[in-house]
Amino acid sequence: MARRKKIYEGKAKIMYEGPEPGTLVQYFKDDATAFNAEKRATIEGKGVLNNRLSEFFMKGLTQIGVPNHFIKRINMREQLIRSVEIIPLEVIVRNFAAGSLSTRMGLAEGTALPRPIVEFCLKDDKLGDPLVSEEHITAFGWATQQDLDDMVSLALRVNDFMSGLMLAVGIKLVDFKIEIGRIWDNDFQRLIVADEISPDSCRLWDIETGQKLDKDVFRRDLGNLTDAYTEVARRLGVLPSNVTHATKPTLIN
Ligand code: 5GP
Repeated sequence: MARRKKIYEGKAKIMYEGPEPGTLVQYFKDDATAFNAEKRATIEGKGVLNNRLSEFFMKGLTQIGVPNHFIKRINMREQLIRSVEIIPLEVIVRNFAAGSLSTRMGLAEGTALPRPIVEFCLKDDKLGDPLVSEEHITAFGWATQQDLDDMVSLALRVNDFMSGLMLAVGIKLVDFKIEIGRIWDNDFQRLIVADEISPDSCRLWDIETGQKLDKDVFRRDLGNLTDAYTEVARRLGVLPSNVTHATKPTLIN
């Protein structure tokens, strides 16, 4: 049997060559890492949940006209995506203070921000993904001013969509990270949402109890990560309501 071509392996996903030019197969691993991969574990079921949740969010974004890389889910762990040229920046949107913003600004976690704040970090593991300014981004040529305007606009649209979706199921979207890529339609470049949107890259707190339902459960040793992600999936209707643990998730189509 022919072996398929691996394009890239990251901490949580593997990219394989897709069936047609301009496509890739994105495989979601069960591996979890934090603190620049200083903390690692394999968490059974995480990849399956993130594949399904990212599909759910990206399909919703498509429905409201936010362009993204998702084409279709192939199986429990894989999805077909458009191949993009990833802009080497993490785009973070924050609605409430938490994590590195709380540390940097001395703000209590959970403090409401005056408006959503968009931040950019350089995607560079060796440097620990440092926060960068728009001046750095344009001066070093990672993106143009037009790209930056488009990235902020995409990020805020994702924020509005995700905040509403989560609010409807009793979850507060504290912050999240997305990645954005370039595609070309003939001579025209467009920016689209890429990578993944999942509890790995968001902070999600139960509105009533404040319980964390995201990767901070792993980062801060707060309990079982799969249970937390299963709860998010169950509330969103991605898993049937009688599923209590996701070591063997049952998908509903
Ligand atoms: P912070 O800057 O507070 O650590 O993270 C802000 C938000 O971006 C959080 O929701 C966090 O999960 C997400 N985030 C930041 N960096 C990364 C990263 O390298 N990988 C993932 N999966 N999420 C990240």
